[in-house]
Amino acid sequence: MTATVPTATTLKSYDKLFIGGKWVEPSSDKVIEVVSPITEELLATVPDAQPADIDRAVAAARKAFDEGPWPRMTAAERAPYLIRIQEEVEKRFDAMTEAFTAEIGAPAGASVAFHNNALKMWGDASTLHERFEFEEQRTWAEGHGTLVREPIGVVATIIPWNGPVATASLKIAPALAAGCTVVLKPAPEGPVSTMILAEALEAAGLPEGVISLLPGGRETGEHLVRHKDVDKISFTGSTLAGRKIMSICGERIARVTLELGGKSAGIIADDIALDKVFPALAFAGIGHSGQVCAAITRIVVPRHRQDEIVETIKSIFESVPVGDPREEGTVIGPLAAERQRTRVLDYIEVGKAEGARLVTGGGRPAGLDKGWYVEPTLFADVTNDMRIAQEEIFGPVVVVIPFDTIDEAVAIANDSDYGLSGAVYADDEALAESMARRIRTGQISVNSWDMCVTQPFGGYKQSGLGREGNVEGLSSFLETKLIQFAN
Ligand code: NAD
Repeated sequence: MTATVPTATTLKSYDKLFIGGKWVEPSSDKVIEVVSPITEELLATVPDAQPADIDRAVAAARKAFDEGPWPRMTAAERAPYLIRIQEEVEKRFDAMTEAFTAEIGAPAGASVAFHNNALKMWGDASTLHERFEFEEQRTWAEGHGTLVREPIGVVATIIPWNGPVATASLKIAPALAAGCTVVLKPAPEGPVSTMILAEALEAAGLPEGVISLLPGGRETGEHLVRHKDVDKISFTGSTLAGRKIMSICGERIARVTLELGGKSAGIIADDIALDKVFPALAFAGIGHSGQVCAAITRIVVPRHRQDEIVETIKSIFESVPVGDPREEGTVIGPLAAERQRTRVLDYIEVGKAEGARLVTGGGRPAGLDKGWYVEPTLFADVTNDMRIAQEEIFGPVVVVIPFDTIDEAVAIANDSDYGLSGAVYADDEALAESMARRIRTGQISVNSWDMCVTQPFGGYKQSGLGREGNVEGLSSFLETKLIQFAN
């Protein structure tokens, strides 16, 4: 699908929650106020799901799993439902991209890219059964049997706001393909695009109880994680919240997949011309205002080329169109929430106090008096031990770190609590590949940068646990059982 320029100034409000495949009255009159990051005006309200709503959704999912047809169907029988969901999402593509731009501030290009990823994930999940053996025969010295991979049960999925329809699809499409039943809790920031996803799920006509979608806050999420009838938690969000969720899962040995934060590095080798690296690498850091888990926010450069590279990035950052994401040509919009803007500005102060050199940016862009905007910001003379090089800022802030040898460049990239993504640039392909092999991250791009969501995606170290996407993502929603016979 291609971009249409979104123009929404208000969004549709909702007064019901999507539980077990039906729109039902919420248990309380609490609402989430959806505020525009562009104008700071109220756009819509959506019910704020409470623990009692979660209980109803989990009960519906439990019943559908224990008694309903869904887990008992073959994966091939479930596939047409996934194709139908993809079609229903496609019918609502413009409404979703428009809502996402209005409520989160993503310019049309970013909004379309996220929702295209969602379409890809439904398409990919609908063919998983053609690529995966759910059963296989095994023989051993004393016996023989069948290895059965069966759905793990009731799955709770919790997602952030930075690309919610895509993130939701990356989880629920393979979970449904596996035969699980699902309760999805989107974040309270920007929930409208996910309410439209719920409309698509309703239209696809899944059996009763198979899917619920309830936006709500942290306490509601924690109630879902603690719920004894939930078999597996699939979480995307901050490392801080992931740590808490994993500790709760530890108490009852609940299965868990975590997709967490990042502080990914892009290494530029000595031998490559800068027009083969930029502007793409600069946008890998500030695209979607840097609110991308896999963003390349540390650029690791040969020391003797630092000035040339800093000048190149500076001129890109100073010329990129920043402004109202509903206007054609805008490349960088506002941050999603006021607290995000405060956090990013605080980090910029930290960088200055640590002695890094602020090359450009650092504040509100000229002429944008309203909205949660921060200029694309570049720091140079950064050492990797500084907080601005170690901590995830989740804003349009990029740091340049010099190196003297390739070994040192690789060590800098790996000297991080995170390990999600990364990029290496070298004319010498053998050198590029050897760097890629030495970097400890779940994905690493060579002479380009992308997040590939139809192949295994996930993090080393504190960037997460497990993988999403393709058969590896499907496997995370399956248990393995051996049905054995003596010889
Ligand atoms: P967050 O962790 O504060 O919130 C994410 C979601 O978790 C929200 O729905 C929130 O309500 C819920 N939540 C928070 N604390 C919880 C708890 N204790 N129990 C249950 N639910 C809880 O993250 P955020 O600030 O909204 O999102 C940004 C973060 O998400 C960044 O760190 C970013 O890197 C990460 N992220 C990771 C990926 C990935 O695939 N690795 C993708 C997108 C975003």
